[in-house]
Amino acid sequence: MPTFRVLNKIAMNALDPNFAASLDQADTLAHFRNEFHFPMIEGKQTLYFTGNSLGLMPKLAEKYLEEELEDWKNWGVEGHFHARRPWMPYHEFFSESLSKLVGAKPEEVVVMGSLTNNLHLLMVSFFQPEGKRTKILCEAKAFPSDQYALASQLRYHGLDPKEHLIEVGPREGEHHIQKKDFMAAIDAHGNEIAMMMIGGVNYYTGQVMDMKHLTAYAQNKGITVGWDLAHGAGNIDIKLHDWNVDFAAWCHYKYINSGPGATAGYFVHERHHGKADIPRFEGWWGHDKETRFEMPETFKPIPTAEAWQLSNVPVMSMAPLRASLDLFDKAGVKNLREKSRKLTTYLQQVLEFVAEESGSNFEIITPLHERGAQISLLIHGYGRPLFDYLMEHGVIADWREPNVIRMAPVPLYNNFEDIRAFGEILLNYLKAQQV
Ligand SMILES: *Cc1c(COP(=O)(O)O)cnc(C)c1O
Repeated sequence: MPTFRVLNKIAMNALDPNFAASLDQADTLAHFRNEFHFPMIEGKQTLYFTGNSLGLMPKLAEKYLEEELEDWKNWGVEGHFHARRPWMPYHEFFSESLSKLVGAKPEEVVVMGSLTNNLHLLMVSFFQPEGKRTKILCEAKAFPSDQYALASQLRYHGLDPKEHLIEVGPREGEHHIQKKDFMAAIDAHGNEIAMMMIGGVNYYTGQVMDMKHLTAYAQNKGITVGWDLAHGAGNIDIKLHDWNVDFAAWCHYKYINSGPGATAGYFVHERHHGKADIPRFEGWWGHDKETRFEMPETFKPIPTAEAWQLSNVPVMSMAPLRASLDLFDKAGVKNLREKSRKLTTYLQQVLEFVAEESGSNFEIITPLHERGAQISLLIHGYGRPLFDYLMEHGVIADWREPNVIRMAPVPLYNNFEDIRAFGEILLNYLKAQQV
């Protein structure tokens, strides 16, 4: 692949269609775009930048879902053994591909339930307040569901969140959180903290946390470490096993394109496997496969992360995940990450060009060297009408009050022309405002 040509801001026009076309021509992953359905508005394909919220539908999802419906039609209960993909071990068909997305061993990941459900179930095991060690360390203004989950876990243990939740936020006048401020909190409160649970990629600013370093730093002080990878899985390079992370959970409907409310995923490091005495809420799908149907009285945990599974698997809501993982397998995580970097670099160049051409004041609040596929943009002096204009012109992005636009060019299906076309629409609007 040719090296990425860095734009010279003065000499070149970032909105030159030939430039975007040359980048698309050099893109070896470009053909994956045809594997997805794009929403249409008035007969025109949208410019879709909300893969960080709901990923687009892989065309294969329909086929895979239909196969399961057909097998149900044809086999009834026997589908558990005779379906093309037997339902009994159905979740096992995902482990290998999924493990590559989060840098785990296949036996460390499971597809199950929903993100918030899984966080709670994992915290039953990994948040064990004891003696002086009763606190949780997290990021300030975490995603609301995470905030509720953490606060309610504390209250469940009879602890007041006001006292026992330590939140680290950005410094005055800054948008992202400095790593050293997490480290300072760990230094100051280390022996009072039982668990650290942070979003690996911040949903609002798009900041990527230094998971490797923070995991080691916290564990060194005896803290159990979990990561919420809702915005990380399928987006950035993750090495949960090597980083020695205790547990992690994520959803599959954002960057992993498996449909609204898709069955989620979790990770438990192998060093926690096979323990019968770990506090855990248990169900029959976590029990030893050999004796499961003998219905023994005592629970014998499967010696993998599956011990945290509760129920037999929702095959219909997991089928689309197969389609998406097929594509990730074909494209390769490393290649996707490389393209993702180019897309966000180009998006930044387009934004800088548009700001200059229109004399507008944009502030990119996503840190340059700590970002995945998302750029969050503060547009000073403009509000909701700008966003409405973008929508009217076929740009699907995400708006946060008062004036933040979150945009996620996704390497599996977005191209450079999407970004260029968006830049042109934005520039037209800003120029029209100044007349
Ligand atoms: C998207 C997201 C969620 C959503 O939780 P669900 O249980 O899937 O509804 C939770 N936490 C974070 C950080 C998210 O980005």
